[in-house]
Amino acid sequence: MSDSILEEIFIKRSQQKKKTSPLNYKERLFVLTQEKIAYYDFDSEKGKRKGFKGSVDLEKIKCVETVQPEPNAPQERMYAFQIIYDEGPLYIFAKNEDVRDQWIKKLKEMVRFNKDLMQKYHPCFWVDGVWLCCHQEVKQAMGCKVLDNKNGFTSKPSRRRGSRKPLPPTPTEEKPGRPLPPQPSEAPAPSSDMNWWKARDKYGKEGYIPSNYVVETESGLERFDWYSKNMNRSQAEKLLKTENKDGGFLVRDSSKAGKYTVSLFTKSCGETNGSCRHYNICTTPQGQFYLAEKHHFSTIPELINYHQHNAAGMVSRLKYIVSNRARPPSTAGLGYGVWEIDPHHLTFIKELGSGQFGVVKYGKWQGQHDVAIKMIKEGSMSEDDFIEEAKIMMKLRHENLVQLYGVCTTQRPIYIVTEFLSNGCLLTYLKEGLKQHPTTVQLLEMCKDVSEGMAYLESMQYIHRDLAARNCLVDGNGTVKVTDFGLSRYVLDDEYTSSAGSKFPVRWSPPEVLLYCKFSSKSDIWAYGVLMWEVYTLGRLPYERLNNTEIVDQVSRGLRLYRPQLANEKVYSIMSSCWHEKADERPTFQELALNVQDLLYELQ
Ligand code: ADP
Repeated sequence: MSDSILEEIFIKRSQQKKKTSPLNYKERLFVLTQEKIAYYDFDSEKGKRKGFKGSVDLEKIKCVETVQPEPNAPQERMYAFQIIYDEGPLYIFAKNEDVRDQWIKKLKEMVRFNKDLMQKYHPCFWVDGVWLCCHQEVKQAMGCKVLDNKNGFTSKPSRRRGSRKPLPPTPTEEKPGRPLPPQPSEAPAPSSDMNWWKARDKYGKEGYIPSNYVVETESGLERFDWYSKNMNRSQAEKLLKTENKDGGFLVRDSSKAGKYTVSLFTKSCGETNGSCRHYNICTTPQGQFYLAEKHHFSTIPELINYHQHNAAGMVSRLKYIVSNRARPPSTAGLGYGVWEIDPHHLTFIKELGSGQFGVVKYGKWQGQHDVAIKMIKEGSMSEDDFIEEAKIMMKLRHENLVQLYGVCTTQRPIYIVTEFLSNGCLLTYLKEGLKQHPTTVQLLEMCKDVSEGMAYLESMQYIHRDLAARNCLVDGNGTVKVTDFGLSRYVLDDEYTSSAGSKFPVRWSPPEVLLYCKFSSKSDIWAYGVLMWEVYTLGRLPYERLNNTEIVDQVSRGLRLYRPQLANEKVYSIMSSCWHEKADERPTFQELALNVQDLLYELQ
């Protein structure tokens, strides 16, 4: 075709515009022209284009980005990219990274002046009713990752601090030979993390490796917590009954060689003690797996993932993994409901400090993984409510949020186990920890880290309520992460919870909180402005000459913090924008993150 700009054979994933439409992958010939990207059936033997199958108008495109490979992705589905337009994502798989980069680059260039370009996207796939990256269950849910500068159109590459962790690959960043998946924080990954697998080398050394660097042998199911190899029916029943959880399940080898069975425990069938059901995983003549006639999958993990969300004919969905294996602390996002950590697996090494809830210690989980353990002083926390909330907190997962690994609630005091950050609290780091006088870029990068963690919380409609430098931590690379989100609701101390109390964070609160206790993401924004001020004053106390009563009075009359010496006008205008008297005139975290990023580009 005369007007074709690029042509290539890709694998295209079906778009499943209707919930019931099947998920499949087909080879298509893609043709890019000035107006559209069209795809065709084609005759692979004659190499000829056949029938037209569909197209996307370039003017409707809102985002073009890479997608991280799915767990167990076959080699031909390693180099995915997504084209987001008003009908959702179109997923395409290139045969190698160069071809993928070429198409992304060209497409980005062609759509760069489109209206409605997205500012955030989902770096992983939408599969079986859930975004694999953020676990939101609405297809239209806003992206969970801020795109580097206006949909990835950058003039200058982002400069990251020296040894920062690799980010998920985007075309604007330098790539290693093969993209690394996002790291599961510096601490332990769960054995079933989709991107990082636990591996043992031939010398017996164990560690975590990126799943896209290896191929599987055997059935490949061994790495999933739900798979119990060599377990028979009666052993499965015994284990499920001991666990006694409605929806508890495991997958075991069936008595028929090479086949698998799902054993599921339910309490919903009238029997008082609950009962077990066993479902054989069937195979279609084409080699697809299914439990329910209508839902076929190319792999067993995909099938299990689907039934973790849908009963589809079984007595219940697969709610809890029951396993006889030892588990590492579960990181968020798995949704398995494994938040209980066995305290015997923890070793306490040294005290890190103490806070509102008592002592915090550094320790190891199973003798090898760094963790921080908050030992909750009795009477300081409304524990039952917190334990409920912890289930939600576990699902919050972002590289700029301190990861909650789990809790130990079977003894008193209860423990909260989180990711450990070796440079400790940001406030102390600002005051004492910086080796040299910081550059304004360094300070802005700290603000950027916080804004991205908070933009994620905002997208999950989660309010922090006590954002301040003292509630951020710094890791070994200088990356800042937000911690203690939402925890203030469980503090049992009137001095802290009442806005008139001496420990209430008055200096970080907007007028509507001071006057009417109205918390929202917009009150978090105000606090973020104050946190930026703390960063640029290297940890000074906001309104240091005023006491709490004076602050309430003066701030409601319009007094604002002054411009720190290290902050130029542009930086000050970002922090000041957070202190609009009217909450809805303040920016969102998503906007802030972009403004901070833009300024970083200017400074570099
Ligand atoms: P609380 O939530 O009980 O008020 P904090 O979170 O303030 O306790 O923790 C007290 C101190 O312990 C912090 O100032 C920090 O120095 C240290 N700390 C807390 N959590 C961690 C962590 N995850 N990694 C490293 N140090 C930590």
